[in-house]
Amino acid sequence: MENLILIKYGELTTKKANRNTFINLLSNNIKNVLINENYNIKYDRVRMYIECDHPNIIIDKIKNVFGIHSIVLCHKVNTNIDDIKEKVLELLKNEDFSTFKINTKRADKSFPIHSMDVNNIVGGYILKNINSKVDVHNPDILVTIELRIEGTFIYTNEIKGLGGYPVGIQGKGMLMLSGGIDSPVAGYLSLKRGVDLECLYFESPPHTSVEAKNKVISLANIINKYSGNIKVNVVPFTKLQEAIYKNVPDTYVITIMRRMMYRIAHKLALKHKCKVIINGESIGQVASQTLTSMVVINSVTNFPVIRPVACLDKLEIIDIAKKIDTYDTSILPYEDCCTIFLPTHPVINPDINKCLLYESTFDYENYIDECINNITTISNLESNNFKDLL
Ligand code: ATP
Ligand code: MG
Repeated sequence: MENLILIKYGELTTKKANRNTFINLLSNNIKNVLINENYNIKYDRVRMYIECDHPNIIIDKIKNVFGIHSIVLCHKVNTNIDDIKEKVLELLKNEDFSTFKINTKRADKSFPIHSMDVNNIVGGYILKNINSKVDVHNPDILVTIELRIEGTFIYTNEIKGLGGYPVGIQGKGMLMLSGGIDSPVAGYLSLKRGVDLECLYFESPPHTSVEAKNKVISLANIINKYSGNIKVNVVPFTKLQEAIYKNVPDTYVITIMRRMMYRIAHKLALKHKCKVIINGESIGQVASQTLTSMVVINSVTNFPVIRPVACLDKLEIIDIAKKIDTYDTSILPYEDCCTIFLPTHPVINPDINKCLLYESTFDYENYIDECINNITTISNLESNNFKDLL
């Protein structure tokens, strides 16, 4: 195969004890996105190399894999100074630049010429053949020459990877995924730190529509390109939600509804061996997300709840949503169970004793069990093109 792609791990290299686990998982995740492609992959403790014939297709796919610091398309030559000079000249002849810098890294200490001297020799050769100047501070083009035992790698451009950790390294979290802007972003940020996802969506038909559900599945599909393993558990929430509206005073319905959602999320997280619950709450965004509300709602579970966008402004969340391509789907106008029958004055400082009192007026445990027993799980997201349904 003609081309070689070099993958640098970035943050992984700081995790000394776990390095092998990280690298093995990263290579598995890369293999998962490269299914159906023709390539060879090799790796050591510092780098991964992919040999292939169509590097642009491969690079496009691995750009979505977390745990990669940068991707470089390299040119491999034998480690001798003449081959190196010729290759650098050939590469630069195809580039448009007026200043350059050669940066040599001599990992193979047995190579007799020191890196500064390699810079001078190769730089001199370029100056002689191409009308240009050396600029060591701000060059138009930086040529990196890595002298390694297995050969010399020469490259000019580094493509930035997504960073983060390989998805799955931290186990799984249960993401409460609504059709809004915030929760898909929360999911993406969790994936970035290596937490794989199982999703949970509460639907209340006929008050919420099938389009609302398909929108959520579509969002799961978009963030699944960073994982490949995401499933969506659809919880039929109608009866429980109607019981809440029947038994709880208006001002407390949202607080109690969210306490029920957390109870269900807790049970489902246990069932699916998730270590945490994740949601898109952001401090102060709505009445149920004041700190007091969060504490009262959170008190129904001892499960850790991660809120990746808790401290971001809405505009900052929107920026990420646009970057990850969820925004346009999130703003489609289908109602969520949280937005139907919204009370005019939801409580912003709920009292835990009142919550307990209102909850004691109906047998919510039964409703919760019914919700859990009637979940439908959607896996194999890729094969569903729900965008067509919207
Ligand atoms: P928006 O972007 O419009 O704020 P949102 O999804 O964040 O939408 P909120 O009412 O702020 O909606 O809900 C807070 C969090 O609660 C959501 O981010 C999500 O994690 C969870 N949530 C809300 N509704 C649902 C639902 N129907 N199913 C699953 N999780 C939900
Ligand atoms: Mg929100």
